[in-house]
Amino acid sequence: MNERGEQMQESHSVHRLETTVDWPPGNVAGYLVDCDEPVLFDTGMAGDDRREELIADLSEHGYELADVEHLVLTHPHTDHVGQVPAVLDAADPEVYAPAGVEERFERDVDELEAAVRENARLAGVQGGFLDKAVEMSVESLERDRGLLPSDAVDHWLPAGETVEIGPLTAETIHTPGHQADHLCYRTELDGDRVLFSGDMALGTFRPVAMHKGFDHGYEDAISGFYTALDRLGERDVDRVFTGHDQPHAEFDEVVERDREGLDHLLERTAEALENGSGETAVDIAYQRSGDRNMEYLVIETASALAHLEAEGVVTGETDEHGVRRYETA
Ligand SMILES: [Zn+2]
Repeated sequence: MNERGEQMQESHSVHRLETTVDWPPGNVAGYLVDCDEPVLFDTGMAGDDRREELIADLSEHGYELADVEHLVLTHPHTDHVGQVPAVLDAADPEVYAPAGVEERFERDVDELEAAVRENARLAGVQGGFLDKAVEMSVESLERDRGLLPSDAVDHWLPAGETVEIGPLTAETIHTPGHQADHLCYRTELDGDRVLFSGDMALGTFRPVAMHKGFDHGYEDAISGFYTALDRLGERDVDRVFTGHDQPHAEFDEVVERDREGLDHLLERTAEALENGSGETAVDIAYQRSGDRNMEYLVIETASALAHLEAEGVVTGETDEHGVRRYETA
């Protein structure tokens, strides 16, 4: 019996396939479930050198790209769908993606531009930064739908259902907040309840609430994130295969940590208004940014302010320049 066959008899090994990213934490992971019909959850970062990393990782476990029979995506960010083209070039897998992605990828570019311009301006983004924000959101859409062509997807997976993924039976858990369509996949492997969690329930940090970027609906990022954590919190999970850093078994703890992280974000945002150190999303995000990427923090802060406003904690008014200014209610 070959090496792979021996492993199969013992257990469904899950192999972590790491590619490099240029932002913290510096790595992103896909996972290959070793079984009759190999299943790959997420593919890693885009780029030719990353493709070589993925191929090298696969070959360490006795696999090549051509062996992938089922390809499952958690969410359409470049560092997760980046090597879909490489897999499709080499293999002919069944492809599974969250149902919400299909419609998101059909977003009209002119409408997206107009929405982002309006919403980023509301947040206080101005001048060249505003043009940049608009440009970046169009680039992201075009890049991500180029990497994961809709016509390559065989199964648009509904949220909150039990689905068959080749040899696996999995529950799809809709976990918006980081990304609006994000699905986590819960399944059982050798008696363990495992979660392929994408960018949720990470062992080392809470992912930024980017949700829909600055497209319409950005203001639901925080409430969506809380809903996602509620859904996750109701599940029993023994082991989490995360999209960044190492898999872990601290599921309940990290779900709670992320809930506290959101609470803290809302508290700090409300405090900044109260102590008069800012009145727009940009003002407040700037205070938080340190050496981190401002762009995503502004989106997160704008949605935090919208959340606080909906809860009646703060009030907002849009000025003559289209900038929304907040104060404590
Ligand atoms: Zn992501």
